[in-house]
Amino acid sequence: MDDKQPKDHKQIGQEQELFFTNEVAPGAPFWLPRGMIIFKELEKYIRELTEKAGYLETSTPIMVKSELFKQSGHWTKFGSHNMYNLLLSDEDEDADGISYTLKPMNCPESTVIYRFRPRSYRELPLRLSELGRLHRREKSGEVNGLFRVRQITMDDAHIFVTEDQIFEEIGNILDIMNNFYTMFGFSVEFKLATRPEGRAGTDIMWDKAEKDLEEVLKAKKIKSSDKKGDGAFYGPKIDAHIEDSLGRSWQLATVQLDFHMPEAFGLTYINDQGQEKRPVMIHRAILGSFERFIGILTEHYQGAFPIWLSPVQVAILPVSEKVHPFAQKILDLIKDENIRAELDTSNKTVGAKIREASLQRVPYLVIIGEKEHGASSEDKYFVSVRTRTGEDLGTILLDKFLQTVKNEIEKKS
Ligand code: ZN
Repeated sequence: MDDKQPKDHKQIGQEQELFFTNEVAPGAPFWLPRGMIIFKELEKYIRELTEKAGYLETSTPIMVKSELFKQSGHWTKFGSHNMYNLLLSDEDEDADGISYTLKPMNCPESTVIYRFRPRSYRELPLRLSELGRLHRREKSGEVNGLFRVRQITMDDAHIFVTEDQIFEEIGNILDIMNNFYTMFGFSVEFKLATRPEGRAGTDIMWDKAEKDLEEVLKAKKIKSSDKKGDGAFYGPKIDAHIEDSLGRSWQLATVQLDFHMPEAFGLTYINDQGQEKRPVMIHRAILGSFERFIGILTEHYQGAFPIWLSPVQVAILPVSEKVHPFAQKILDLIKDENIRAELDTSNKTVGAKIREASLQRVPYLVIIGEKEHGASSEDKYFVSVRTRTGEDLGTILLDKFLQTVKNEIEKKS
């Protein structure tokens, strides 16, 4: 048997108690408390990034009238069989035989927010983000752990711009994507997908849009290639393909121009001359689906998540029961610094505790014995520290250790 065989995310998810799937809900993962920490940290980070870039967060209903997806064109183009449609029976007072859909994407509803009131050119670019929960009808044979799910949480955004703002806005989005992925150690390649056979909009629009996207890629000196004819029916797009530590390629991020939906929903803004104009819509997602992204990260790191994402950042391992009160004191001091720490008070040997915490891929193991206890005083605490890779950092001042941990969390290294 080959020990080096990489584990898949479902196995790591079980071992580290992050997530699992159950036949009661095929294609929709259950998130355990530790997995939820990773999910929430990513959410927090995405929110920080988007807020900094001027996005405004929104939330739209999960269940909407199917009519909306007919108007958007998704009913035919995406395929109504790929959505979950519910025909509410007449037992439901207000149903009246109306068909509802669990939204497979947020786009049409973002136009409902846009139309909430008249818009002025002064508001553009209007960047509406949404961490939306979507449902897509994947075939039962095709659902696979976190990689292919029926319930998707997407870091979505729709940006409404004038034609003149496309270039700059796309440039900003590519910067965010590039920074985001390189932070995780992924190499990114962008692919420009151009006009397909059946499409909305005029050739003049497509010429300009494709040229804009090409020029942004050139201006940013971004490595890219073309996917001719692979654009969406409503506009050209740039997809980011990343390569993980196992050498696999994934398409995650996407930024798409859309001329069709503003037309289909009659979106307008008033320009500086007081005239009514049609905005262009940009769809973009950075990590795409949280589920799939966490699945990829889990395999990419083989469960050894960077410290800012690690469910447990520090494991405190007392050598004997005698030092439990001191270990408890250290735990409190570490937790006071908002570091996620756990104390192992089981009666296993310290060797067994170290092995277990290393298997759980906890970044730092703090060992507490008589020596550390004896060296410490009321205002000076000493701990012995090891890393999950087996590196021995020796006996050091707790304050110094905490500073190192906090810096690493802060830098997301
Ligand atoms: Zn969209």
